[in-house]
Amino acid sequence: MNDKILKRAESKITERRQLANERARQNLLKAYTAPEFKELYNAQREAEIELARRQAYGEPFADIQRTLQQISLKQEFCLKTLGLNSTDLYPNYECKECNDTGYADGHLCNCLKKEINKQLMQYSGFTHKLSTFEDNKYDHPAFDLMQKWCNTKNNKTNILISGYTGTGKTFLTECIANELIKNNRVVLFSSAFNLNNQLLNYHISFDAGREQIIKPFLESEVLIIDDLGTEPMLKNVTCEYLYMIINERMLNNLTTIITTNLDMNDILTNYGERIFSRLANKKISILIRLENEDLRLKSE
Ligand SMILES: [Zn+2]
Repeated sequence: MNDKILKRAESKITERRQLANERARQNLLKAYTAPEFKELYNAQREAEIELARRQAYGEPFADIQRTLQQISLKQEFCLKTLGLNSTDLYPNYECKECNDTGYADGHLCNCLKKEINKQLMQYSGFTHKLSTFEDNKYDHPAFDLMQKWCNTKNNKTNILISGYTGTGKTFLTECIANELIKNNRVVLFSSAFNLNNQLLNYHISFDAGREQIIKPFLESEVLIIDDLGTEPMLKNVTCEYLYMIINERMLNNLTTIITTNLDMNDILTNYGERIFSRLANKKISILIRLENEDLRLKSE
């Protein structure tokens, strides 16, 4: 993942954690203004230390436990008069999976993935709400097929959606993106034109930040390339890096979804055999053709 995107997403989660910690701290300070609470709080700390000590030395500790229970009852009562609960004294993290750290069991937590997706949406240039399968008015089996695909584990890594303008390609890909994001997948949506520009930037830059340009395209769990064929063909760039991206993603079992106006022959002619064979192979790709005649808007 692009470091900037990851860092921004992580900092959102960190902010949440700090906010929860700060709220708890403020509540404790507020409670501390009541002398009775302060006394109870100090007594509680002492009893907790004593409990730990006795447990460590194998001494009986049932009476200390009782003391602690009594203290917490009194504390609860005291806090009520201040408009607080005992839970208010501890950070109330938004994500219970990771306590707002962004990582659970060494993996990206779903809350962090959600933030990454938000950042990726901006990166993709999306300002509108994505279409959903629920909004679908197209009467085409591909919609059901893809909705199911989004909700099942599938070993086919590539999806090629072809069809002329106005057949609902972009609509379908938006639905797919939305559904995958709902399932906590990290999705990058890019027009072929934008991708091509980024590939050119990558090609002509020689500084240390070079890899960051291409990283999101290589590493996002799902990459959607919209409208392949509308980008200008740049010598030594378009086909070469597109192949690299598709191939590397396949090696890493990452899904690439491509929409295009082109038919199979055009893809073979314009992009060459290596790209064609990876997209057209039915063993590893799902091929969807949206035809005009298949497209009937359901009567409203
Ligand atoms: Zn989380």
